[in-house]
Amino acid sequence: MDEAVGVESNQIHELGKRVMGNARLAEAYRSSTLRLYDHRRQAIAEVPGFEALRERARALKREVITHLDYYLEQFAASVERRGGKVHWAVDAREACALVIALARECGAKEVVKAKSMVSEEIELNHALETAGIRPVESDLGEYILQLANERPAHIVAPAIHKTRGDVADLFERHVDPHRAEEPEELTAVARQALRTVFAEAGMGVSGANFAVAETGTIVTVENEGNIRFSTTAPRVHVALVGIEKLIPRFQDLAVFLRLLGRSGTGQKLTSYTSILTGPRRLGEDGPDEMHVILIDNGRTRALADEKMREALYCIRCGACLNACPVYRKIGGHAYGWVYSGPIGALITPELAGLKQARELPFASSLCGACREVCPVKINIPDLLLHLRAQAQETAAATKPPGSPVREHTAMRLWAWLMTSSRRYAWSARWARIGQHLVARSGWIRSSRFFPLSAWTRDRDLPALAPRSFRQRWKDLESEEKDT
Ligand code: SF4
Repeated sequence: MDEAVGVESNQIHELGKRVMGNARLAEAYRSSTLRLYDHRRQAIAEVPGFEALRERARALKREVITHLDYYLEQFAASVERRGGKVHWAVDAREACALVIALARECGAKEVVKAKSMVSEEIELNHALETAGIRPVESDLGEYILQLANERPAHIVAPAIHKTRGDVADLFERHVDPHRAEEPEELTAVARQALRTVFAEAGMGVSGANFAVAETGTIVTVENEGNIRFSTTAPRVHVALVGIEKLIPRFQDLAVFLRLLGRSGTGQKLTSYTSILTGPRRLGEDGPDEMHVILIDNGRTRALADEKMREALYCIRCGACLNACPVYRKIGGHAYGWVYSGPIGALITPELAGLKQARELPFASSLCGACREVCPVKINIPDLLLHLRAQAQETAAATKPPGSPVREHTAMRLWAWLMTSSRRYAWSARWARIGQHLVARSGWIRSSRFFPLSAWTRDRDLPALAPRSFRQRWKDLESEEKDT
């Protein structure tokens, strides 16, 4: 997104602190991500050769991204051959303008939307409303967020941070004054409100989980059936497709579908997989017209960077979010844009520009949990380090020399201590003596002294062991000698 509408990724510290200071929100993120993480773990344990499957998926994505020009042309030709129409959008503005023009052409005053992260990325709802067209989200999570006027907090589970009570409040205020409390009742309220929209909307907009170059097929996966409604009930279907969504052949779907559900929610397959190839033919159900908008919006920038193009392998399963200790603590909104978690920290700077999202590559402990769970084996920590280096270079070029004095001094002092074993041992000895003032039962839980205070404000710090490794080693040696 060249214009980076609404990107405020540099507020990650402030926004993250707000979540950590809100016990209800913090618990919602913690319990939901842990549950999804655990479901994934159980689901992949049942698949023999899961590693080989990941390797295969990675190889397929590498093939398609390396030869993206070829596969895009093949895809466009296949769509047109099946009676669909292909449009190309360089950025968010062009993509929105195309959707609006198509809605006006078919006289749609209301557009029903299936869950689509790329539509969030281009801020389609805002553009449609400004053009006097009413967008209605049909995915339950997205519908809740539309009522709350919020962005998705998770790639797969957009309303992951909302409790049942939150949803009941929203529905009571905006949809039906008779308060519903139980999940089944709440779903029924949403379903009732949406059924009329499906019947009346002139146009349906969806994203695509995969776009098959060989056949021109759009594939969507979901659990509610709303995507199927949105793409087949209205007379016109518009699919918004990021150019990285391509896979080469129809048979390759088998690889990706086995990975996607298991990695995202721990399901063997999601409840619905829709395979849409062109508009309806004689005797079929479905839309009269099918349009595919292929969206760049910064993706070719990532493609041009040989290292970063690996980020385009992502199939948006959300597994890295569930595994990430940082995401679990600060939640999705702290990342400031539509994509959150480790993959958000990678692609937001690529799509929105590093200037708007300079802090995101630093929002990681580099523990590698994201890499471990990624179905296409994206080396996220490595790419984050690459972005960090770029961010530092930009910062060094734009900041007046000497501005980060405190940081520089701290780093030089750290380097001075760490590059000499004698100095390291000496500093550890003093730290051990000093920590008696603040450590209790092996932990430093709060401290008034900077920089410890900055750390312990939000989390505990394990105290240094009473004896150093060297000391223990020495003691062991003398014990051995004695025996
Ligand atoms: S980076 Fe990997 S784990 Fe994260 S959303 Fe993308 S495919 Fe899933």
